[in-house]
Amino acid sequence: MISVSEALKEILGTIHPLGLEKLNIMDALGRVMGEDIYARRNIPPKNNSAMDGYAVRAEDTASATQEKPAILEVIEDIPAGTIPTKKIGPGQAARIMTGAPIPDGANAVMRMEDAEKDGNNVKIFIEASKGLDVRKAGEDVQDGELIIARGAVLRPADIGMLAALGRAFVQVCQKPLIAVLATGDELVNVDEDPGSWKIISSNSYSIAAQVLDAGGIPLQLGIAKDTREDLLAAFEAAMRADIIISSGGVSVGDYDLVKDIMKEMGNQMQFWQVAMRPGKPLAFGNLRGIPLFGLPGNPVSSMVSFEQFVRPSIRKMTGHKLLYRPVVKAILREDIKKQTGLKYFIRAVLCREDGRYTVISTGEQGSGILKSMVRANSFICLPEDCETARKGDEVTVQIIDHSFEQRETPEYLQI
Ligand code: AMP
Ligand code: MG
Repeated sequence: MISVSEALKEILGTIHPLGLEKLNIMDALGRVMGEDIYARRNIPPKNNSAMDGYAVRAEDTASATQEKPAILEVIEDIPAGTIPTKKIGPGQAARIMTGAPIPDGANAVMRMEDAEKDGNNVKIFIEASKGLDVRKAGEDVQDGELIIARGAVLRPADIGMLAALGRAFVQVCQKPLIAVLATGDELVNVDEDPGSWKIISSNSYSIAAQVLDAGGIPLQLGIAKDTREDLLAAFEAAMRADIIISSGGVSVGDYDLVKDIMKEMGNQMQFWQVAMRPGKPLAFGNLRGIPLFGLPGNPVSSMVSFEQFVRPSIRKMTGHKLLYRPVVKAILREDIKKQTGLKYFIRAVLCREDGRYTVISTGEQGSGILKSMVRANSFICLPEDCETARKGDEVTVQIIDHSFEQRETPEYLQI
């Protein structure tokens, strides 16, 4: 048996980032930046006015008051989008609108509210300090400055900044294509009649959705029967993917053929017993160089194994700097018994109460209880050597869904 961290280390050692693709910035939201973006000009390009008012020389307004205003000659009108043509000399001013370049000679802007037009002159009622309401050239972005670094996840502000820098297209990291294959004679697809006893292949969808959520593109390959021919054909169809994920058929049952097929087709396949619950059986290796995850079939096990091993792999392939879910410490709200030797990932509800985190399990924790995932926003992670965690203990919690920040504790979990 190997530990979760050993398995993860071995897996990530074989995963490499994909190449880049060029996208219009509107398609780049949420994508990982593939290049360093340096500014090629100052923003703003020139000193400009932060207010509608009058561009003045600060020294000309010295000791101006309501009763004794400074009187300046208005020599030009500068709406935004025009270039000043005159230099402001002693005793002069220019009417100026927000965003227009400051004329030479001026060093401050007096707001409309603190001035009054008087024929060709303007009365200034207060003293301006040097630089008042002047936006300095380059105060936002300096020519040559590194603004967005490779590896950043692009958010709306980044998209706006790219536009401000004149970049309509950028290089982002490619998204991997991830083949998702369910295996099992007992399975039918969601649009088939399950009769009285067949199981609908929920894994085909939960895993494909996890792929999307992790930043990959799912290639949904449906269900393969537990026969050599069917499995071979399905894995063959998966060969154009960047990662292959199967679920089921990796434990020790009579029809768990996936392991044999993987051995037959692949090389360096590892069949692990990972010291975790749920998700103990895990196959990892590659099929002709394509990383392959053989996840266990139980609906919760496959999702938990995906979270711990596949999601960080997809994020690494996608060029993310941060591979893992955030982890916090929380106060446990119940007693939990466990078996030693295994790391537990207990589906749980994390809440923030009075400035601290508290956490409670979602109840029944069987590896077939998909509802335990549906109700969870986190995993309580109990280490291998832990035997019992007690109410009031501080435990490690991995957050898988941030909506808990707004969520109240549901009624069924009130204690
Ligand atoms: P296996 O690992 O193939 O032995 O499957 C373990 C359990 O998970 C069985 O009870 C299966 O019915 C169930 N299972 C396997 N694959 C899926 C799937 N794609 N969707 C839902 N349940 C599954
Ligand atoms: Mg099976």
